[in-house]
Amino acid sequence: LITAQSHRELAQRLAANAEAHAAGRPQDAALVVVSVAPQAYAALATRHGLTVTQTARRVTAALKDLGVELVFDTGFARDLSLLRIAREFVARRTRNAGPLPLLASACPGWVCYAEKTHDYALPYVSTTRSPQQVTGALVKTYLTPRSPSEVYHVCVMPCYDKKLEASREDFRLPGTEVREVDCVIATHELELFLADHGRADLRQAPEVPLDQPLSKLDPELGLARAAGTSSGGYLEYIMAHAARELFHIPLDAAAVERGEGGIQIRTVRNADFREVTLILPDGTVGLRFAAAYGFRNIQTLVRKLKLGRCSYDFVEVMACPSGCINGGGQPKPADMSAGPKAWIEACETSYRSLPIQAPVDNTALLAVAEEWLGNPDVTAPGADRYLATQYHALPKEPTAATVVGW
Ligand code: SF4
Repeated sequence: LITAQSHRELAQRLAANAEAHAAGRPQDAALVVVSVAPQAYAALATRHGLTVTQTARRVTAALKDLGVELVFDTGFARDLSLLRIAREFVARRTRNAGPLPLLASACPGWVCYAEKTHDYALPYVSTTRSPQQVTGALVKTYLTPRSPSEVYHVCVMPCYDKKLEASREDFRLPGTEVREVDCVIATHELELFLADHGRADLRQAPEVPLDQPLSKLDPELGLARAAGTSSGGYLEYIMAHAARELFHIPLDAAAVERGEGGIQIRTVRNADFREVTLILPDGTVGLRFAAAYGFRNIQTLVRKLKLGRCSYDFVEVMACPSGCINGGGQPKPADMSAGPKAWIEACETSYRSLPIQAPVDNTALLAVAEEWLGNPDVTAPGADRYLATQYHALPKEPTAATVVGW
């Protein structure tokens, strides 16, 4: 049940595990794994005046002390998601493998809205899974030694809409009723969970090393971000990949973020609608991307799409104004005197303090893709089983998406 996904459910599961161990029945205890989104760590870091890595180490220590066995961050899954969507874009652009603009699919608030009210937009939506659901498949089928039904996997996410995503029928392991993500708790619910167990103040908490699923291949791996905004860096990564593949321009995502190498960045109408254009050496436009955050901008986008007047190649669509860092499940500051804008900016700055790591430079990631999916090419046949999804036009009723404003 969607309502069953809460910090209380996690607490109940850990209590049941403790009982099983106390009764000498360890085989009845589930392996509890928690995967945390970097936006959640960034908001908690801002709240407690810590770095993102300090926060991750302290949250990991607290969760492990309370019975969680493995604590991952979702960065490795985000990188797999980026690799696939960039290749999906090039396939659409060069081989007519689907319509353009390609619309990002990592935000369930937007996807749910499109399924319920704008089904004509669904063919444009990327079939690449979100980092949460790639994490789900990775954890249940590759990263843990137990069978999927013996693993209880929790994701900590910046919004409540991710609970809806985890509960989709499409995200059960093929041929089973086993969900890839059993429970999603919002960042604020993680705070409640820690407070319920006497761990509210992360400033006083001990630290432990991070669990890195790829550390057996690359011990230097730590928390990292993709270039771009806290919404995952889809626009920047796809732009750089396509510039290299289509025009042989040696661009990387960090240069796109900085507006270098022929990139022009323009704010249109409001701060939540950006156009990012690649100007080729001959002065013509090579690629025209946009980022549309918040429902006001999404409505403009889908209206243009319906009228056939949307001339972008790719649009990073996110339901929350300011993107994921401002998700409805994020903590709010104890002191609101500086205003919400300053708080969101501080959280975004915290997120951007993480080092940038390009997925293509991550040899460990490619090695895992080869071992897990059978091929480092994440668009190869077979990879879609865990990296792709599909969408469904739904009856037109009010969306359950919970995009919380200020
Ligand atoms: Fe969730 Fe908002 Fe991010 Fe969408 S933009 S995934 S609703 S936090």
